[in-house]
Amino acid sequence: MGKVQTRFIFVTGGVVSSLGKGIASASIGALLESRGLTVTILKLDPYINLDPGTMSPFQHGEVFVTEDGSETDLDLGHYERFLKTKMTKDNNFTTGQVYEEVLRKERKGDYLGGTVQVIPHITDEIKNKIIKGAGNSDVAIVEIGGTVGDIESQPFLEAIRQMKLELGSNQTLFIHLTLVPFLKSAGETKTKPTQRSVKEMLSHGLQPDILICRSDGVLADEERGKIALFTNVEESSVISMPDVNSIYKIPVELNNQKVDEIVVNKLNLTCRKASLVDWKRVIEEDLNPKDSVTVSMVGKYTELADAYKSLNEALRHGGLKNSLKVDIRYVDSELINARNAKSLLKGSHAVLVPGGFGERGIEGMIAAVKFARINKIPYLGICLGLQIAVIEYARNVVGLRGANSTEFDKETKHPVIGLISEWMDSEGTVEKRDENSDLGGTMRLGAQECLLDKDSLSRSLYKKTKILERHRHRYEVNNNYLDMLISSGMKVAGRSKDRSLVEVVELNKHPWFVGCQFHPEFTSNPRKGHPLFSGFIKAAKKYKRLKK
Ligand code: GLN
Repeated sequence: MGKVQTRFIFVTGGVVSSLGKGIASASIGALLESRGLTVTILKLDPYINLDPGTMSPFQHGEVFVTEDGSETDLDLGHYERFLKTKMTKDNNFTTGQVYEEVLRKERKGDYLGGTVQVIPHITDEIKNKIIKGAGNSDVAIVEIGGTVGDIESQPFLEAIRQMKLELGSNQTLFIHLTLVPFLKSAGETKTKPTQRSVKEMLSHGLQPDILICRSDGVLADEERGKIALFTNVEESSVISMPDVNSIYKIPVELNNQKVDEIVVNKLNLTCRKASLVDWKRVIEEDLNPKDSVTVSMVGKYTELADAYKSLNEALRHGGLKNSLKVDIRYVDSELINARNAKSLLKGSHAVLVPGGFGERGIEGMIAAVKFARINKIPYLGICLGLQIAVIEYARNVVGLRGANSTEFDKETKHPVIGLISEWMDSEGTVEKRDENSDLGGTMRLGAQECLLDKDSLSRSLYKKTKILERHRHRYEVNNNYLDMLISSGMKVAGRSKDRSLVEVVELNKHPWFVGCQFHPEFTSNPRKGHPLFSGFIKAAKKYKRLKK
């Protein structure tokens, strides 16, 4: 394995999925970072898909986009919200990607005609990818998706077992998250599922060093003792992680139970004590709002909260920075129209149209934007939300009947949004695409520089001219319509680095109306917030005051 300095913390889950492995990993990462260590986090997804970017948000939640333009699992969003480290394409991989690489090598003859097998070829490739993702960090936390016992995750467990053997126990540590349910009918907390789950791990040759027990309430010492006895984990390392009213409390909760101290000792790391002032401030802000505002989010994935994970968090961060609680009201874009917009948006202090693909719900979104524009309700349009704002303005203010995006109407007379052919990336390379290019390859992805107009609302919010924000879309504002839009009162407040593409639009005669082609939600975090979301929530607060 060559000389690897990084310490590895492997995080697995047992009993059931959705225990919050991602948040636990991110919180431990935050604690270690606050002790002065460089930390990164990897998510290993046992499913076969090659590309999380093409998975349905209905099934899988949001697709998170990294700075380097990789479409990844939403857990990477948690990691970036908790850590200062930025994630890259190497921080997330799937079984499909591992097999693809092994098969590519096999085709090239790299295995010299030998039999290609799960052990060692697949497991070696998993180890290579883990080590690559860890880079030069002091600590790499590696979260294995799924639960121990799933058929799909077995090669991953085998790979991390081998890593422990090769690197030794000072360099590797295993954390297992498990469910400790309270059975109402028996009036008892049950530790058996946890015992079974650890047995399952042992059958793969893995002994957890730390158990994080998820439960409704705090676990009694007696129960922790029992779990310790049956699982061969020291009692001090049996951690109780009850449900909390704010996920941002978890780093502090884990620190109270000395999780970082245990990790640092077991991994023989020398570093300072944890400093959690900024996390304590976040908790303070989160738990003591002075008032609340209601934001209506008009989109099509309204049934699954995870579909807009980063956006929900970014709005909440906007609230933290204004001492407000943000109530998000999900409005199904397929149900809203010009006739019912007033009643469906009643009581909203701001309207947001999030990103999205495909034709469904488009007319409803247009009705919502129109309502916000005319009634001077603060509006934030993200990616698709910008495109909708431009279509609505073109139709109803410029007077271009039937204006549309070619994504929804190929034959439209006024393609104000279309597939336009080239843009410059942050390195200055010109990328090209056209309508005949393969869809997967034509997405504008990742962080790109945007230049803000000096007289714009956005410029005053960001307090700088050059910003870096992440993209994930194919369509752009059609420059041929810009003169008309601008002379009717729309402002181009931001443009791409080479000035050829519209990145931000605003309205001259509206108190707060911003559409951005990028996704600002991917760069918001609870400690710093994000200028657009802080500004948006502040505007909602002002609107609420005015309406009183
Ligand atoms: N469907 C639009 C496009 O591809 C918007 C995408 C998005 O909102 N992320 O350009």
